[in-house]
Amino acid sequence: MSNSILQKYVQKMKRLRIDRAHGAAPNKPVLLLAIIELIEQGQIRENKISPSPDLFEIFMKYWSIVTDRKPNLALPFFHLKRDGFWHLQANAGYETALNVITQIKTVSRLREIISHAGFDDEFFYLLTNIHDREVIRQILIDTYFTDFKQEIENLITEEQQINNYSQQLIQQVDYVFTSEHPAVPDETENQVRTEGFRKAIMRIYDYTCVVCQLHVLTMDGASATEAAHIIPFNQSHNNDIRNGISLCRLHHWSFDEGLISVDRSYRVIVSEFMLERGPTEWLLTTLRGKSILLPEHDELYPAQEALVWHGENVFRK
Ligand SMILES: [Zn+2]
Repeated sequence: MSNSILQKYVQKMKRLRIDRAHGAAPNKPVLLLAIIELIEQGQIRENKISPSPDLFEIFMKYWSIVTDRKPNLALPFFHLKRDGFWHLQANAGYETALNVITQIKTVSRLREIISHAGFDDEFFYLLTNIHDREVIRQILIDTYFTDFKQEIENLITEEQQINNYSQQLIQQVDYVFTSEHPAVPDETENQVRTEGFRKAIMRIYDYTCVVCQLHVLTMDGASATEAAHIIPFNQSHNNDIRNGISLCRLHHWSFDEGLISVDRSYRVIVSEFMLERGPTEWLLTTLRGKSILLPEHDELYPAQEALVWHGENVFRK
């Protein structure tokens, strides 16, 4: 990439149009740092950036370092278009609406109207280059977050560890699954391990509950889906992703309580304890026999051994 193009975008980064009505709002530089992070992790591979739970999670991490204000990914995602290098693409049927609206206040509205955004092609290309990406990242940090430099550096390092661990978990499926010990000894730090496992499971299941297939996002873009261990981690110490599934909070709780389980043909089994109880029972009992959502590749499927263990040790017969 020619140096003049890099310099052009360095200048643009320094002069982001920031709302200063209540003190400089860090929305846009935080969004840009979050996108850079996802490009680095290989999670954004093309110039088509959507307001995904991935983006929200990393946006939140940067946000909580630099401010205690309430985060709202919708604001910078929409208003960055005023800076000239960020282009919004409407969902079908919303093209006219996008031309006339002047603000979008929630992520749910953003997702309704906007399909994705893209940078100028030359800027995106720049960000795929490790050297140029680092220049842009440092300019953003030096211009907007000098007081938080160290914390941001730490976050970047930790995110790299989480991402590496998460990729390692996905690659480890080449090993035979064992319910008792992980195939590869795991000396990773607790937080990296927990978040790396979650990231791997969310990538595989796209933030969707395998039982009810809900893909719930809150108004500000947070995902309500959790990474659940089939054989609990405190018993198995096993972060093999085949010992995991993604579940919404209701089904995570029900699974851990043994009110539901999954049989060897990947169908939901519901405990007899759930029969004829209270008004919420239909949420669980109507799921009986339903096939769960499975990963695209069968080597990533939940391990039969783990499911059998859950059926025998946790499920309330
Ligand atoms: Zn669910």
